[in-house]
Amino acid sequence: MKELVVVSGKGGTGKTSLVGAFAALCKNAVLADCDVDAADLHLILQPEIQEQHEFYGGHKAQIRPEKCNRCGKCLEVCRFEAINEFKVNSFSCEGCGVCSRACPEEAIVMAEHLSGHWFISATPYGPLVHARLGLAEDNSGKLVAQVRQMAKTVAFDQKKDLILTDGPPGIGCPVISAITGADLVLVVAEPTVAGLHDLGRVLDLTAYFRIPALVCLNKWDLAPEKSEEIETYCRERGAEVAGKIPFDVEVFKAVASGRPLVEVSQGPAAQAVQELWLKLQTRIGGD
Ligand code: SF4
Ligand code: SF4
Repeated sequence: MKELVVVSGKGGTGKTSLVGAFAALCKNAVLADCDVDAADLHLILQPEIQEQHEFYGGHKAQIRPEKCNRCGKCLEVCRFEAINEFKVNSFSCEGCGVCSRACPEEAIVMAEHLSGHWFISATPYGPLVHARLGLAEDNSGKLVAQVRQMAKTVAFDQKKDLILTDGPPGIGCPVISAITGADLVLVVAEPTVAGLHDLGRVLDLTAYFRIPALVCLNKWDLAPEKSEEIETYCRERGAEVAGKIPFDVEVFKAVASGRPLVEVSQGPAAQAVQELWLKLQTRIGGD
């Protein structure tokens, strides 16, 4: 079983549209949406939820009023100002547990906190494991790990030979959680000053974890000179630009219709995506 993770230095680079198109092109894959802070792969893949599970991402303090003598120690020690009038505001509570250790009456318990849900769904392109964080919740790195682990279980159970993952943007904890141990990472970048900077940071990350990484330039023809600069940069640091996708209004039409690009278009972007997919298949199968 191989694992391909598609990431980007920031959101809005077209990463999810690309993963949706790959999903339609690949056979025998499990799909995983690890962009749990802004999960939208389901908008393209039209999943039917088959399983729903609760996700407990951490603990929050709870004051038991019957034991509390209102001494105020917990208010003093909480650095997040999460306790007001002897009640804990769960949005502000970071779950550090300091108040519970400081309480002389043992009136504070650290209770498991429901942070979101994760799902196993059926799609026309194979099973999809995805998730939804609750409002203002963090701990997305832990949820990413949960989605990834479940995608592996589904792949094993259903004898799938590939896990295709829509990874989170950036270089933070969720991305590290999504890429560590993967067989191949595809970094999607746009030809802008910020795009080059973000790409460099992601490539630093994949190099640090020794994960093979390829680059895809999206909408490369909107700024050919910047694209050339990015290609030179990639060449110098030994990262192959495996695909260059031109700007194409058909992409917007595909997004609006909620279907993978390669199913609704034979235009230049769709063709570039198909060529890129062939390269990725070779790399994943050949390594
Ligand atoms: S430290 Fe314990 S007893 Fe004191 S106010 Fe807080 S919860 Fe109540
Ligand atoms: S667990 Fe930490 S953040 Fe939450 S209320 Fe207690 S001291 Fe404040």
